[in-house]
Amino acid sequence: MADKRQKRLAEGIEPFLVKAGSEVTLSKDFDPRFKAGVKKKKDGVRLLAEGKERLAEYQARLAAQDTWGVLIVLQALDAAGKDGTIRHVMSGVNPQGVKVNGFKVPSAEELGHDFLWRYAQRLPARGEIGIFNRSHYEEVLVVRVHPENLDRQQLPEAAKQGDVWKRRYREINDWERYLSGNGLRIVKLFLNLSKEEQRTRFLRRLDLPDHNWKFSAGDVKERAHWDEYQKVFSEMLTHTSTEWAPWYVIPADRKWFGRIASLAVIGHALMEIDPQFPTVSRARRQELLEIKESLEEQAPKGAAADPFEAEEERKRKARKAGPNHGDQAVAAGPGD
Ligand code: AMP
Ligand code: MG
Repeated sequence: MADKRQKRLAEGIEPFLVKAGSEVTLSKDFDPRFKAGVKKKKDGVRLLAEGKERLAEYQARLAAQDTWGVLIVLQALDAAGKDGTIRHVMSGVNPQGVKVNGFKVPSAEELGHDFLWRYAQRLPARGEIGIFNRSHYEEVLVVRVHPENLDRQQLPEAAKQGDVWKRRYREINDWERYLSGNGLRIVKLFLNLSKEEQRTRFLRRLDLPDHNWKFSAGDVKERAHWDEYQKVFSEMLTHTSTEWAPWYVIPADRKWFGRIASLAVIGHALMEIDPQFPTVSRARRQELLEIKESLEEQAPKGAAADPFEAEEERKRKARKAGPNHGDQAVAAGPGD
């Protein structure tokens, strides 16, 4: 059953996968309006709810197992739906096990270190799910489109010679390989938005007063660099989709579809990890039974030796007696 679901999920997300070593031209290879086999938004809502439930379950097991961490990398242009994706993906999971980090223009302290330093500081621990809202990939995106960012990085001459970007791709791939070899599963999502849909979303932010805060004049300035961004996105996808940390290009023109697709890719990664609740050894189980006996001996007069067990037994009997009896029994039950 689980295997079947895993297979179905793998097939469902296959159109989004950038195969390691393949050359990507974003505009040619991926359609922002693609909606796979989901015909109606209504079906999408059901899938989203199911996906969220399953994610919550997996997250509990991931935390209990405490062996693997999961890093979700979110990259996109403005208004592609990064924030909404985070909101939806995270609703329902235990907030203790999830950390979201956004990355803005680097601070003076951050510029005083190697370019991966600030991202390394915010990696999730074992058992945690971390989300990068923008990520180390900005180092080959905005930094490339606006080279003055690179000038600010105080790099030695030697690090600026030759093809800086090819070198960064390699360094990022090496870093991610090291991390995934040490227990971090990296899930990379690129939310692919069309130019016209971005224009519509910007206008919506301008038209709705409650959404004005989301709009910054800088966003329109970046939009003027649309073609350059498409080019650097394509190159990023071509050079940094690896066996150990592949990219998924998520069609983002329909928000609801983008969310389902993102959830499916994350769910698939967790399914592959297949985290399990730890079980105790036979010897430890014996030890626990001895402690249980001692606690039972401490029961005060009139109290059940094991109140939890007594309550479970009472519920079992009530269920056997039928629904009506059950209701009465619950109403009269101790501790309710
Ligand atoms: P936002 O995520 O919309 O709040 O904006 C954050 C801004 O920080 C964006 O304009 C990014 O391009 C910019 N930013 C993020 N990382 C870097 C970086 N490494 N170098 C320069 N700018 C960055
Ligand atoms: Mg912004």
